[in-house]
This record gives sequence, structure tokens and C-alpha cells, in this order.
Amino acid sequence: MLKLLYPAFIAISLLVSSVNLYAEEALTRQQVDHAFGTKHNKVSLPQTPFNTDEVPNIALAANANAADVLPVYKISPNTYFFYANIAEVDENNRGFNANAGFVVTEEGVVVIDSLGSPLLGQRIISTIKAITDKPIKYLIVTHNHPDHAYGAIAFRNLGGVKIIGHQGTIKYIESGRIEHSVNYRKTFIARDMQGFKAVKPDILIGGEEYSKTRITLGQQHFDIYNTGSHHSFGDLIVHQVDENFVWISDLAFNNRTTFMADGHSQAAISTQSWLLEQFKNARLMLPGHGSTQTAPFSMVSKTQAYMQHLRKNMSDALNNDIELQEAVDNNEFADWQDVPLYKLNHKKNIDFVYREMEQELF
Ligand SMILES: [Zn+2]
Repeated sequence: MLKLLYPAFIAISLLVSSVNLYAEEALTRQQVDHAFGTKHNKVSLPQTPFNTDEVPNIALAANANAADVLPVYKISPNTYFFYANIAEVDENNRGFNANAGFVVTEEGVVVIDSLGSPLLGQRIISTIKAITDKPIKYLIVTHNHPDHAYGAIAFRNLGGVKIIGHQGTIKYIESGRIEHSVNYRKTFIARDMQGFKAVKPDILIGGEEYSKTRITLGQQHFDIYNTGSHHSFGDLIVHQVDENFVWISDLAFNNRTTFMADGHSQAAISTQSWLLEQFKNARLMLPGHGSTQTAPFSMVSKTQAYMQHLRKNMSDALNNDIELQEAVDNNEFADWQDVPLYKLNHKKNIDFVYREMEQELF
């Protein structure tokens, strides 16, 4: 299977310019106890972005410029993948903590997700320009969490780019939540967040659940599926039809503990089953976090099993009149304890699912 995929990866040597010692941010790091990030002053990239547990550590310079390219893997003759840190935002990874990518066609470039700051959005654009002189025609934002969406303003400012997003984006923008998350990001990366604005998509995707909208550019076809709101105010996945790659966004996480805050765990479980059935013959799935994966897509079944386990335990807890705090304190998952971001996310997930099931059951 793997030999079908393009083996080469562009170890963009310009990376070196992204490495930097940081000093002045040390205070921020002390102020915010935040031990779940990327090691500072270190850049290491896995040999391959396929089927690996090896995690990138990409510390970015605090004084980087918009013109500085990002490390990117070439995964097929026309497809490029940013394999990001598996981390929370911090002053080392500077919001480079979700994957993204782009496809070069004869008529222009289609970008999938925009990374976590206006500066990173600009750096995606610079990376694309270093690879092709084709114009960027589309940006598809799979959902509106900061790590995927906060670079979108750079594409708006560039001009000529049609931005595609879920119709739930509008609800999210109007919910007032953005201000809080922008302020949180600024705690770590104020400079990179300069010029941030929430971006309303030019093309809104909605309609029936699992319905698809096709865009075609340079004879390449992209089917964008509305997968509802299992993880956010509105989630999309993208089927890159001609390569038969599926960009699954945060429907499953690879080698990273999931994070549930806006979505619906039962909807996620159903949509994961749909994904596995609908795309069982896909050549590759590309998640929002973690390495890409070939069939049988164990990241999807593993994320699903985690959510099912949580739902079962919380259902039992509620039926036995166990209080929320007690449920949070007594539900360690031994098989997940070594998975990245478990310590950060697991208790929050318990809290989320407990409250969710409380509403479902009573
Ligand atoms: Zn994400």
C-alpha cells in the first residue's frame, strides 16, 4: 500500500532559519503553567508522515517572518502535507499544532486548513509560493477551532482566494467564543496573532448530513462532505477524489488523545462508522492531528473506542448516582495513559461526556 504513495519528503532546509533560542517568552511560560507543548529550540521531523507514531517537534522562531516557509512533506505528485506538533499551543510551537495541506493543480492551488495564527497562514502561503507559481484559488477550513482556522485571514488578505467553510462557522463567530480563544492564544503568541480577524467563508457548506459539495480545479475533484457538528459548530471532511485521499479533520486523532468541547460524542461515534464504511477503500486518511494512515484506519476505530468507553462509564456513573467530581477522579484509562495529551485532555473529556449524558438520560 505504502509504495503507492510518493516516498519523497521535502525536508525544506529553510527550516534551519526557523530554529531559534527564545528568552523573553520564558516569563510567559512561568506565568501559565503549561507543560504540554513542544520542546524549545528543537526541530525534529519523522522520516515519514505515513503510519508512524513518531511525533514531530517543530519549535518555531518567535521572530519569524511571513516569508519564512514551513516544513512540508510531499506525499503524492501534487499533494503536500504539514505534519504539525502534537501539542497545545505554546510559545515554542507558536500555534503550529494542527495539520494542514495543499494540492497543486494545473489551474491553481487548493489549501486545506489554515493553521493557528495569521502569521502561520502567511507562512503557508510563502511555502506554496516556494513550490509553485500557480495561484491559490481555494481555502477549505474543515472547522473553526483556532488551530485549524486562525490563519484564514492571511488568505482573505491575499485576495483571489475563495474560502469555504461550514455554515456553523457563522454561528461560531456570533457566539462570542472567539474573543476568549484569541486572548488565550495571545498569551503565548501575541505577535503572531497580530491582524487576526474572524473570517466568514465565501462558500458555506451545509444541507443534509453527509451531503457533498464538489469543487473542480485543473481537472482535480474535491468532494467536501458536511459531517454535522460532532466536534465543533460545523465539521467538514474533504475527499481528494483523484488521489483517493480523505482529509478527515478532527473526526479521529492519530496518536493523540481526543478533545471534546463543542461537539457531540454520539454524533462523532456515528460519523466515524460512516467514514469507515464510506471510505474503506481510500488510499490514505489525513487527520487534523497525528500522522497520516492507510487502511484499515485504526486511528478511527481507536478514537471511536475511546469515546464509547467514556460514554459507557459515564452512563454507569449516572445510573449509580456518582457525582461528576468522583467520576472525573476515578476514570483513568490505562490503555491511553501514554498517548500524547492524555493528561491534558482526558479529565476534560470525562467532564464533557458526563454533562452530555446527564442531559441525554434525564
Ligand atoms: Zn484540531
